[in-house]
Amino acid sequence: MNYYSLNKQAPNVSFKEATILGQAPDKGLYFPSNIPMLDQQLISCMNDYSKEDLAFRVMQPYIGNDIDEASLFTIVSEAINFDFPLVDINSNIASLELFHGPTLAFKDVGARFMSRCLGYFSKDRSNTITVLVATSGDTGGAVANGFLGVEGVDVIILYPSGKVSPVQELQLTTCGQNITALEIEGSFDDCQSMVKEAFMDEVLRKKMQLTSANSINIARWLPQQLYYFYAYQQWADKFNPPVIAVPSGNFGNICAGLLAQVSGLPIKHFIAACNINDAVPDYLRTGRYQSKLAVPTVSNAMDVGDPSNFIRILELFKQEFTTIKDCISGYTVSDETTKETIANVYQQYQYILDPHGAVAYHALDQYLNNYLSQKGIILETAHPVKFPATVEAAIGRSIEIPESAKSLLGKGKISIKMPANFNALKEYLISR
Ligand SMILES: *Cc1c(COP(=O)(O)O)cnc(C)c1O
Repeated sequence: MNYYSLNKQAPNVSFKEATILGQAPDKGLYFPSNIPMLDQQLISCMNDYSKEDLAFRVMQPYIGNDIDEASLFTIVSEAINFDFPLVDINSNIASLELFHGPTLAFKDVGARFMSRCLGYFSKDRSNTITVLVATSGDTGGAVANGFLGVEGVDVIILYPSGKVSPVQELQLTTCGQNITALEIEGSFDDCQSMVKEAFMDEVLRKKMQLTSANSINIARWLPQQLYYFYAYQQWADKFNPPVIAVPSGNFGNICAGLLAQVSGLPIKHFIAACNINDAVPDYLRTGRYQSKLAVPTVSNAMDVGDPSNFIRILELFKQEFTTIKDCISGYTVSDETTKETIANVYQQYQYILDPHGAVAYHALDQYLNNYLSQKGIILETAHPVKFPATVEAAIGRSIEIPESAKSLLGKGKISIKMPANFNALKEYLISR
């Protein structure tokens, strides 16, 4: 499989090169040169496949010969080695729980897949690959955990001091080995601009192979398709496919779902569920795209003003606004409504939503009110314990801490404090 840059000013590359580069030299995002169509038999007999088999069959065409089949089977199996249960909340809405991985958020699958691909590719390289990533919370933990112990790959995570939750901070500062946490005295935007500057710096580019680990990287973006296959596998009424509501920030997750649909997976409709950072719902209402400045909310993993994967959605639909509108409905959900939704769903159905899942639930519920014959699924992207302040206030009781988070609590944080200044980062990277 070849990948081209959406800016069309850079040469096509293989899966391997696109994964190592992250972003194309012309700053464009990579996109597959053709979308593989699924075998009809795979769709009609989906429940005959194990989740490993299914993952392998979906991912293999995107990788081609860059990874041998046996190694790829191991890589996908390790990336998805936890459960993705579909749990009924009520008779119309089910929750696909994507938070059973090691860091309790859906980013685990993409981070684990990408780390293992890079580990595989670094075997025939003499120098190490350095993954540089800025995080506002969930990305850092998933990347730290996913890349821990992968040979030939160093990971450096920048996070804003005092602005991530306690569980999130422990997840990124307690790994050790090849993972380093830089605690930046500034905001998430500062972290992100330091990373962006590093990617453009000639001295650093000559000295080291830097790559990104957010959903810009195809190796993090593409495996997110698998959630939609696991949703359909567990969906009882195969003749009446689900409407799927996706809590969206950078739009990597929903764009992966759309890719699965274009390649033949039956999904009735998509809902792009956003908090007040709603550049894409605005586009769906007006036909005009206008980026915004990010505003903080209680569903902070979706506080994105200019979603980087939106351009991949346009490409997928060949820029045809009417087709996009037929496939996706956008919703904007306030913090007020998010908290009410957590409270109401708990009282009525005893199901505890996290703030991101609550945004999706409200959006889907609104949509289904207008389409009474349809039923749907929300993607529950994080465990509620990652957002204890909001969730506990809404449900009026404390949340049990899952085993995997318990072991973190006794660990000591190790970070390197750094001012929010690119030169400090550059000096640090050169001196390593
Ligand atoms: C990252 C994240 C999102 C947003 O996903 P995108 O792919 O960026 O749209 C939603 N919920 C949670 C909990 C996340 O960590």
